[in-house]
Formats: sequence, C-alpha cells, structure tokens
Amino acid sequence: MAETVKRVYAFGKDADGNNVTEGNTSMKMVLGGKGANLAEMANIGLPVPPGFTITCQTCMEYANADNTWPEGALDTIREYREDLEARMGKRIGDAEDPLLVSVRSGAPMSMPGMMDTVLNLGLNDQSINGLIAQTENPRFAWDSYRRFIQMFSNVVMGLDGDLFENAITAMKNARGVASDTDLTAEDLQELVREFKDIFSENVLAADYPSLVVDGEVQFPQDPMVQLQLAIEAVFGSWNNPRATLYRKQNKIADDLGTAVNVQSMVFGNKGNTSATGVAFTRNPANGEAEFYGDYLVNAQGEDVVAGIRNTSPIAELKEVEGLEEAGLELEGIFTTLENHFRDMCDIEFTIEQGKLWMLQTRVGKRTAAAALHIAIEMEKEGLITKEEAVKRVDPEQLDQLLHPQFDKNATYDVLARGLNASPGAAVGEAVFSAADAVAAAEAGRKCVLVRWETNPDDLAGMIAAEGILTSHGGKTSHAAVIARGMGAPCVCGVESLKIDAEKKQAVVSGTDVVISEGDVVSIDGTSGIVVLGAVDLVMPELTGDLDTILEWADEFRTLGVRANADNPEDAALSRSFGAQGIGLCRTEHMFLGDRKQIIQTFILNEDEAVREKAVNDLFEAQTGDFYGMFKAMDGLPVIVRLLDPPLHEFLESPRALDVEIARMEATGADAAAVAEKRELMEKIDSFAEQNPMLGMRGCRLGIVYPILPVMQVRAIATAMAKLKKEGFDPKPEVMIPLVSVKAELEKLRGVAEKTIAEVEAEQGVTLEIPIGTMIELPRAAVTADDIAKHADFFSFGTNDLTQTTFGFSRDDVEGEFVPQYLAQHILPYNPFATIDRGVAKLVAMGVKLGHEGNPDLMCGVCGEHGGDPDSIHIFQECGVNYVSCSPYRVPIARLAAAQAALENK
Ligand code: ADP
Ligand code: MG
Ligand code: MG
Repeated sequence: MAETVKRVYAFGKDADGNNVTEGNTSMKMVLGGKGANLAEMANIGLPVPPGFTITCQTCMEYANADNTWPEGALDTIREYREDLEARMGKRIGDAEDPLLVSVRSGAPMSMPGMMDTVLNLGLNDQSINGLIAQTENPRFAWDSYRRFIQMFSNVVMGLDGDLFENAITAMKNARGVASDTDLTAEDLQELVREFKDIFSENVLAADYPSLVVDGEVQFPQDPMVQLQLAIEAVFGSWNNPRATLYRKQNKIADDLGTAVNVQSMVFGNKGNTSATGVAFTRNPANGEAEFYGDYLVNAQGEDVVAGIRNTSPIAELKEVEGLEEAGLELEGIFTTLENHFRDMCDIEFTIEQGKLWMLQTRVGKRTAAAALHIAIEMEKEGLITKEEAVKRVDPEQLDQLLHPQFDKNATYDVLARGLNASPGAAVGEAVFSAADAVAAAEAGRKCVLVRWETNPDDLAGMIAAEGILTSHGGKTSHAAVIARGMGAPCVCGVESLKIDAEKKQAVVSGTDVVISEGDVVSIDGTSGIVVLGAVDLVMPELTGDLDTILEWADEFRTLGVRANADNPEDAALSRSFGAQGIGLCRTEHMFLGDRKQIIQTFILNEDEAVREKAVNDLFEAQTGDFYGMFKAMDGLPVIVRLLDPPLHEFLESPRALDVEIARMEATGADAAAVAEKRELMEKIDSFAEQNPMLGMRGCRLGIVYPILPVMQVRAIATAMAKLKKEGFDPKPEVMIPLVSVKAELEKLRGVAEKTIAEVEAEQGVTLEIPIGTMIELPRAAVTADDIAKHADFFSFGTNDLTQTTFGFSRDDVEGEFVPQYLAQHILPYNPFATIDRGVAKLVAMGVKLGHEGNPDLMCGVCGEHGGDPDSIHIFQECGVNYVSCSPYRVPIARLAAAQAALENK
C-alpha cells in the first residue's frame, strides 16, 4: 500500500545473512534512540537480533487520535511482522518452533526505565510445546512463559506486579529454595497456571470484553492480539505519569512520542552458559577507562537492574566457563563502539548459550566528574578535539561538582557503607517513602529518601529529597542511574541496612542502631558512607579536570562572566571561580541586621538632625562595606547598584505590629507604650502601596530622597580613594536602577558626578567612576538610544524586565496560573528561569539602540538568567558583553558561554 510516510523500518539480517537494516543512528527522532542505534549496530556488523521499529510519529498520531490506529498502520506492521518471520524462518505462535519477540519502547531522548517493555511475546499454551521441543529445555520454556504472563499483565494490563512476585515467593517457600533459579520446570509450570488465574481474577471483563471466553477473562492466546495490545501499551506508556514527570524534569518535549521496537528474542535464561548484563565502556562515576557493569548468569532482561539477585562485575565475565569467548568479544565491542560513536557508551547485552547478542547502546549518562574526565582523556587520545571536549560537558551538570562534600576536618562515625553511586553529600531527615519525601520538602525540611530499592514511581520523592539511600541494587540500579542523572547524591546497596518501610524505620545489622523517620542522617555519594547525625558540609574548589575544561572554555568564549555578590566573601569566592568582576552588588543587602535600625530611623523620623545622623551612620557603614568589596575584587570592575527596593521592605510588617499591640493591650501594658506603637504602625501604614514592585523604588527613591544617593556615592568614592592611597587598583562603577525616562538618569548622574568631584577635592585623588543604568523596564529598552547618551554602561535586569514585559509578578510565579500555563503549554518554560524570546528581543533592541546613543557602551546582564545556560545562548545572540550570576554559577556560565560562542561560530 502506498504511504507518504514510512511507518516501519527493519533492522538486522535476512535469512541469508545479509544486512537489511533501513535506519541508522541519525534517525533518533523517527526511530527513537534505541531503534536508531539498534540499526546502527547492525550496520557496523555487530550481532543484533533482527526486528523492526514502528516510528515515534505513529505513536503521536495514535495518541492524538484518542488511541486509535492511523489508517494502514496495522497493515504495514503485519507486512513487517511477516517479513521478520520469513527472515527468522519461524512464525510467532507456531506450535512446532515458535518465534518469540520483545516489544520495546524507545523515545528520541533517553528516558531510562520510564516506559514499558514486554519480553517473550508469542508464547501460549500451544507454542510452549514447540519451545520445549526445540530447546529440549522445559525449565527454560516454562520460565519464559511465566515471565511473559507476568510482564504482559503488569505492563500491558496494568496489574500490580506484587501479585506475581508474591506467588513466586510463596512457591519458593513451599519448595524451600532461596532463588528463583532453583525452581524446577514443574514448579514454573505450576506458576504459569497460577499466573493465568491471577490474570483472570484481576482483569476486568468490562475493560477487555474481547478477552472474555466462556464468561471469564482469559489470558490472550492469540499472538496477534498479544502483539497489538503490547504495542498499544508501549504507545500508551509515553503518557504515563512517571514518563510525563521525567520529561518535565529533563525539559523533553511532550510531542515526540516513543517508537516501538519489535525484536526477535534471544535468551539469557537458557542455563549456565547464558547470561544478561548492562555495561559502560568507561566508568560513568569517575570517567576512568575501565570495564564497568554487571551481569547475571541464567537470567533475563530486567533481573540485573531489579536487584533480584546479586550481580557480578563485568570484568570477570571472560573468566567464567562457557562465557569466555563472549566476554572477550564484548570487550572488543566496547572499543568498536567508542571509536564509532567517539564517546562513552552504555550497552545492554545477552549471551545465549555462549553466543553474544547486543540489545542496546547509547551514549552513556555520566556524572559531571566523569563527563570532564572522559572529555579530557578522549581529547588526549585524539578521539575528539578540544572544541568537542568543551561541547561535551553539560554546564548544568557542573552543579554536581559545586555541591557540598563532607568537610575533611569533620569527625564522625561511619554507620554503614554502600556503593558510591552518585557523588556529593547530603544531610537530612530520614524518610521511607516518596510521598513522605515530597511532604518533607514541601514543609521546607531537608530529607534523605531511604528505600530498599527505588522504582520509577519514586521519582517525585527522589527529586524532593537531598539524597537517596538504598539497601539493594548495584551501581546500575534504578536509584543509581536516576540519581546520577539528577545530580543528587546517592549511596546504594547498603546491605547492613534492614529497612521496614511500613514501620518507617531501618535497623543497622551488627549494631543496635535504629534509624526512625525524622532521624538526621548524612550520606556521601562520593565515598559511599552513611553517618547517623549531621556532618558538616563544605563546598569544593576548582581543581583538576574542572579547571582544565574551564581553561579550555575560556579560550573559546567571547562573553565575559561576572558575579552578583554583596559581600567580600562571596566576591572572593566568585573570583576564585573565575569571575571577571562584579556585575551586580546589591546595596540593600548591606542594610540588614543592625543596620536596619538606622535606615528605619531615617525613614520614620521627622527630625532633620536625627535623620542626618542616621545617614551619616549609614555612610560610615557603607564605606567599610565597599572598601572590603573593592579590595576583594582589586583590579576588576565592581558595579554597585544604588538603593533599589521599596522602602517599606526595611520597615516592620504592620501586621506583626498589629498583633503586638493587641498582645500589649491584653497584658495591660503601659498606655504610653501602646500609643507609641500605634503611632509607629500608622506611620508604616502610610508607606504601604497597592503595587510596591511598581511603586516607590529604584531611582524614584533617589529622586525623592536625594540624600540617599549622595550618601551612597560618597561612600563608594571614599572607599575607592582610600584604597588608591593604599596602592590598590579599585574599579567601582555606579549603577542607577529602574530608570524609565532619560531625565531620571540625567538628574541622578548629575548628583553622582557632583558628589564624586567633591570627594576628589577632599581626598586629593582623581576618581574615575563610570556611571550607568539598569535596563529593566520596557520603556527604557525602547528608548535606549536616548538613555545611553547619559550612560557609560547598561546592565539588563532581566528579572524585572520579565516581570514588567509580561506583567507577571515574579514573586507569585509559583502560584496559580504560571504552573497551569506550563502544563497547558501556553508557555514553553518558566520565563523567570530561562529568558523568554520576547523579553530577549527587548534586550537585543536595548543593546542596539544603546550603541546608537553611545558607541562605547558596555552591556551586561545581571538577572537570575545570567547563570542559566539556555539563556546564555540567547544573550550571546543579543550582543551583550558579559553575563553576571551568583558565585556558584560562575563556572557553569563560563562553560555555557564557550558553548554559545562555538555554536555561533
Ligand atoms: P529499557 O528501555 O527499560 O532499558 P529495554 O527495551 O531495553 O527496556 O528492555 C529491557 C531489557 O529487556 C533489555 O535490557 C534486555 O535485557 C531485555 N530484552 C529486550 N529485548 C530483548 C530481546 N530481543 N532478547 C532478549 N532480551 C531482551
Ligand atoms: Mg534498555
Ligand atoms: Mg530590578
């Protein structure tokens, strides 16, 4: 039949051994990552079980049409299924020699474990006999059948997996054996019977009328029914809640869809020369070039990651009798894959009776430390260039390295040890369920999620927790993989931990320690240590690989990176992280603590002399602050923003005063004292505004109270003069906030220049202090040519600019409608986190017009967006000179700026 869009692509070999693969690795958007790379592996001659891939677009068409099949799609699938049967020389469901297949999800972006896969499809009460006859291995055949019913029931029909696990446990107990591998063919046959009953009892006839036979729901015996239901289930898994949440977390679009791979089965559960495993071509935790991974003998599929049995390290595979050859071949394939993809890969494989089969590969997820190490090593090995090395590391991921660690000087007793699955340290209250983790986080309490092993349903809790601690599972277990992806610290496989999730406690064997819910624990995912109680955490420094990559990044980037800091410690820290100056020093942060009293006196007192004294006190204090800041940033620019927030922010809350007055009256306090309080409250009330963020703030304060900018500029100039005399090279700049008309700037610039001239005269030194403005109101951006005539620099305050462009209150974005806008895709992302394209247009316009007014104008960005990699790419296009961000984001911004420059080259 004629098709405008190809819906299905074959991969693997035909009956004569010719490669008939139709796809390749570049087709991820069509075939999904798994399908595209199965095709690629087949194309480069690796052993891949044959199959075909149904496209992601088909999934979306199906989903968008309310789960109905696009015309012709089922026919095409039938053609490819018949073709696969011809290639394999076997038919699905055949009673003599059946072909079994897996039905595997696989989206364009890797979403590990988020969606569904069904194995051993095609087994029924007839074909099981064929499988037994062909393999002469009844145990294997019955094991495959029970696995199929179990997975199909869970994944396709949505039955609780525990129903089946409990039946297996009961069978093991009845037979007195510890492992599922000790169950006999007869035991498994019995389990198949039980599983079918569980199926009949739990699937509702009303939901699946077509499965009703003789008045009862029956496990579907028709392989074609099995296949169609499984494909539909994989399509449906694209929109299951955990996949949806994962996409939101990882900024993956909702309209990509998943492909479905139908692939002939190979069997790792055929005895002791069969095995299954997962591996990485290098260590994904630290990047060392070594074989890394786990395998299980006589097992299938998910057994390795599910932590059901204890796995063995991959390096030992080639020493196991009957697996030597496959083990060696696998090591060769590691190299083949690395050379081909020019990156670290992760793989899934199965060995069937000594023969190796490749089931999956993709560029492997890794920790930030590993990403840096691998990029640097591969550059040294000549596999990639320096530019590629810089592009390889995800800037956002560096955050992991800038995470806290256990203080080396801290003393603590190690309570237990596990695997160092994801680096960084965390301290928090122990919680034993994902729901409790979410509740703790919402209540503002830090927690560590303690689980036997995590599963995809725990995702929300894993995000909410500071760190994750499990008693089971290896370094490729669910908890480990997800934690590394999120950059959350994780210690897993702590065997001494006996967790009772019901009772919300864990007993540590060999000790009398019981960890109960709410007890504080500390974990170090870098070393695998668990401690009872809180350990002091410290922040790491830039050394080794991180420093190397950032130096390389600096060679490529064209954007400067400065920091937002208001105290000498933060300034020094940001400088050690490579900041090239301070892009924003918020002076209001210097007015907190005991200083608050002084500014309150200034605002509230009517007596001129008292006010003047207050201003003088502030001058003294500020001069000291600035002295420290300029000294810490000696030789580098420090942009000081004059007082910006609404004055009432420095005053007590009228509501709190109201409560206090009521309390005073109730307790019979002195009438005069009450009256005084009441007067204060009325005074404060008189400063209240309906919309304080649009009110008396920014330069408006300076116009109404000129004494304030005079005091601040005087403090800046005085601190500068003092440092100059001491032989330093201070470089302060004065920034006037919230300008919307040029006259505001003109006027305040005049005030500042006059003040600087006075200090120069007093101190006998020349003081060159550039004066500029923030561009944070749309009017300023569109009249930037006028404004620039009075400005030496612009700094785009993108927080306020976003707020005033959208008319969204940024203090309320977490409230009702913005989350709804995101859920309904009215906004693609939160514009306060990543700069909106519309707001960015104002920035670009401001830069362009600004240069018309003043060709030498310096332009920077000092909003929250300055530390966001996606925004940095946009700012690069806007033509600003630098971005400024919080100290800990300086390294991230350096790397992101290099990538932005390389992209625009
Ligand atoms: P996920 O995306 O969750 O990793 P997969 O589709 O990779 O799911 O399937 C999970 C596991 O199932 C694989 O790692 C592999 O062990 C097993 N599996 C999938 N397809 C086959 C197959 N054709 N033959 C044997 N095992 C398979
Ligand atoms: Mg897989
Ligand atoms: Mg602002």
